[in-house]
Amino acid sequence: MKEIIKLENIKRDFKVGDETVHALRGVSFTIYEGEFVTIMGTSGSGKSTMLRCINLLETPSSGEIRFHGSDVAAGKLNANAYRAKVGMVFQSFNLFPMFTAVENVMYAPIHIKKIPRSQAREEAMELLDRVGLAERADYYPGELSGGQQQRVAIARALALHPDILCFDEPTSALDPELTGEVLRVLRDLADRKTTMIIV
Ligand code: ADP
Ligand code: MG
Repeated sequence: MKEIIKLENIKRDFKVGDETVHALRGVSFTIYEGEFVTIMGTSGSGKSTMLRCINLLETPSSGEIRFHGSDVAAGKLNANAYRAKVGMVFQSFNLFPMFTAVENVMYAPIHIKKIPRSQAREEAMELLDRVGLAERADYYPGELSGGQQQRVAIARALALHPDILCFDEPTSALDPELTGEVLRVLRDLADRKTTMIIV
């Protein structure tokens, strides 16, 4: 099996006043292509910190993260190019509030991948259709339910064709009746053998 991401003895300490919080105490695992990995743990056990380390939003205190075998911290990988390959979906959606749904999905392909606007729009519409939101393409995030916003966020992450998608508690901010629509999208991604990690 093809290795996508490998964590080797990742530690992350935070200094809070005189105290040191050991958020991660040596985490090691490998995710292979097509795998759907979930990690469970109580609140405060370090799940978000681990995902943030994977996405370079956080720097591990020690340990190594390898992406397709290369050390992510070694500086050979361009951070933005790497982040484009490692999609992130947050607990609180984090959509751009001043952009419509389709503009949210188009943004990174246009600005990071330099894809022509018309092509980016066409692909964004296909992705919104995949998450069941084609008819909401021109709505702003503030006009969408939490479940709809999270589905836009998933389409936005998919727009860069990442090698792995990371989800940080993707349904925990949703009302119970809205989790089903997001879970259906996650199931569809798993059926398509999308490499994913969900915490
Ligand atoms: P989880 O996502 O599993 O709830 P987190 O990764 O958010 O856990 O947090 C793990 C631990 O690290 C917690 O004790 C939290 O308070 C601490 N922590 C996380 N981020 C910071 C930070 N920026 N500064 C200080 N402590 C932090
Ligand atoms: Mg968390």
